[in-house]
Amino acid sequence: MPDLHTLVPGSQVSPPAPARLTPARLRELDREHVWHPYGPMPGRQEPLVVASASGVRLKLAELTCGQSELVDGMSSWWSAVHGYNHPVLNAAARDQLDRMSHVMFGGLTHEPAVRLAARLVEITPEPLRHVFLADSGSVSVEVAVKMCLQYWRSVGRPAKQRLMTWRGGYHGDTWQPMSVCDPEGGMHDLWSGVLPRQVFADLPPAGFDAEPDPAYLAHLRDTIALHADRLAAVIVEPVVQGAGGMRFHSPAYLRALREACDAHDVLLVFDEIATGFGRTGRLFAADHAAVAPDVMCVGKALTGGYLTMAATLCTARVADGIARGDVPVLAHGPTFMGNPLAAAVACASIDLLLGQDWEHEVSRIGTGLRDGLAEARSLPGVADVRVLGAIGVVQLDHEVDMAAATRAAVREGVWLRPFRDLVYTMPPYITDDQDVARICRAVCAAAREG
Ligand code: PMP
Repeated sequence: MPDLHTLVPGSQVSPPAPARLTPARLRELDREHVWHPYGPMPGRQEPLVVASASGVRLKLAELTCGQSELVDGMSSWWSAVHGYNHPVLNAAARDQLDRMSHVMFGGLTHEPAVRLAARLVEITPEPLRHVFLADSGSVSVEVAVKMCLQYWRSVGRPAKQRLMTWRGGYHGDTWQPMSVCDPEGGMHDLWSGVLPRQVFADLPPAGFDAEPDPAYLAHLRDTIALHADRLAAVIVEPVVQGAGGMRFHSPAYLRALREACDAHDVLLVFDEIATGFGRTGRLFAADHAAVAPDVMCVGKALTGGYLTMAATLCTARVADGIARGDVPVLAHGPTFMGNPLAAAVACASIDLLLGQDWEHEVSRIGTGLRDGLAEARSLPGVADVRVLGAIGVVQLDHEVDMAAATRAAVREGVWLRPFRDLVYTMPPYITDDQDVARICRAVCAAAREG
């Protein structure tokens, strides 16, 4: 054991190994003390204990339904696009760790954050020019909302304070994002009377390839026109609505939003937190529509799933507008803003993605999902099967029995996390064809048994 008082910062030592908890004890402590996402306290479901993860496999601490490891069908909620324990991302993290893991961003700057911001500007739609590095997707949406409201205040139109979105969306769990999540049947309808009241258009008609519905296009235009005097921004998830229902819609609706926002002096925000970095088959879902928003949020796969970081990008118009106000600064500055470790891994993750034929990998996985999920169409209780990019969705005609569906997937050696009436998957881009087929078998088993 090294003497802690004589250690020189920067010298190499191994920390004393902590006594390992048995899986049973770990679960006991977990149940007693630890909140899990969208869970009660104490927890009612037994979480599986993951001991390590490598490639596309989660290694379990104990044998579960005969499995010691599971193929990850979830990419840790859209984020781990390169799989786990990736040598390139590990090296980027280690290299940065040896320089500095964090310094405050007020009054200081550093290469990882600057490189990341410049890289994001380079790869996102053209007029996006300025980058706010946030520490989670929800915070990046808060920042986007703050930017939009402050823009209108600064240019002398302070009444423009409301947001418009369409139903079926999901933008995070902090207060402003919650106010633009689907107001019914979503995770936040408990708070409908307390949240800021926003303007909701109807659900966008389903189908990425479906002909745009003229009546819905008119509905979008009319809703924006009607509320324009009070609207700061329209915020939507482009092309894929994720946690609000895993729905796909025509990019034509994004073009209609862009036109109506321009016509009525309303900013347009795209939440690309789930859709960004290739998941839908284009680098950003906005690219399907060839439309650029005024503000755009990215997160999740930004760091390849290694560390929490998100970013809000905006155009020069938005930043210049804010700078003209009586309060010319954007009053937001998280403690861990620009975290060098996360930024270094994000740079490495973007390089890794763009340095390979990611479009081919995403389309290969899409083909595997289409083939493998075809049999789900004839299963009793299945309402719809849809695939876009590397996203596969089986929608049931009933609420899924989450425990039974999860068990069925685990028996097939796959990790899935169904919710509501949905069994879905978005595998890491490195998932090979055999594992994609296995994930499909698990989705079908979960749809059958859930
Ligand atoms: N927007 C979208 C579209 C998301 O899918 C999510 C995360 N599920 C968020 C925002 C919130 O991101 P985070 O969980 O990192 O706060």
